[in-house]
Amino acid sequence: MMRSFFVLALLAAHTAHAQPASLDEDAARDAVHRIVRHSGLQPNFVVRASTDTRTAIAYVKDRQRVIAYNPAFMAAVLDSTRTDWSAVSVLAHEVAHHLLGHTIDPSSLRPGDELACDRYSGFVLFGMGAALEQCLAAQSAIGSPHGTRSHPPKHARLEAIRQGWEDARRLRGGLPPEPTNDPDALRYMITFVNDENIYYADSAGHVVWFDAGACPINLGELREEGKDGYALQWMEESFFVDGKLAIWRRSAHGMPLQVGRMQAYAR
Ligand SMILES: [Zn+2]
Repeated sequence: MMRSFFVLALLAAHTAHAQPASLDEDAARDAVHRIVRHSGLQPNFVVRASTDTRTAIAYVKDRQRVIAYNPAFMAAVLDSTRTDWSAVSVLAHEVAHHLLGHTIDPSSLRPGDELACDRYSGFVLFGMGAALEQCLAAQSAIGSPHGTRSHPPKHARLEAIRQGWEDARRLRGGLPPEPTNDPDALRYMITFVNDENIYYADSAGHVVWFDAGACPINLGELREEGKDGYALQWMEESFFVDGKLAIWRRSAHGMPLQVGRMQAYAR
């Protein structure tokens, strides 16, 4: 398989033992441009190495689409993964935030947005020649096992990357998409305040998010508790669901706070 100049240049840094891996702005810009080209678009992105950002970020400034990354963060990713594809996958994730319109209103980032970007990174890296392990390397090394309201846990993110990579592989091979969840197995739709994603609980008690390809990604667990209530474990948080399907969080002062609701799923 033909290697790009970018990958070769970084590999050279890796094989020279004493030299720590790094990603200079030119190499990062080249990588971003190749990612965008593999999406069939013109590369109108500004790429900046900046210590103002802790990891990597996509934002719009003066009507320009910017991707900024912390060079020390990227060097650490490259060092711990020993593959240049880890840097490409981090950048591809940020490119996706632009392409999917998430930079228009950055205050409303949802967990599903992160998974959609992860999925894209796996998809586009397949087209660029990466093996699945290479696509997963960065998230395996730096992902957090605990989810937050904006960032899903590592296991969900790795699954999203895998699904994107697998979808691209199937597309290349003329195969249909991966089989999707059985809609008959879905029992509830779950929504949270300030989160436009819709999650679903299936009859096995898995709480899943569906990406555009309707592939489920596991984010939590729902189990019966008491006579007509449920315990909901979602992204490392515990909630309870009452008989009217309202989802509650207990505050530190013991005052319950409604954070969402479930409703029976009807096809
Ligand atoms: Zn992101």
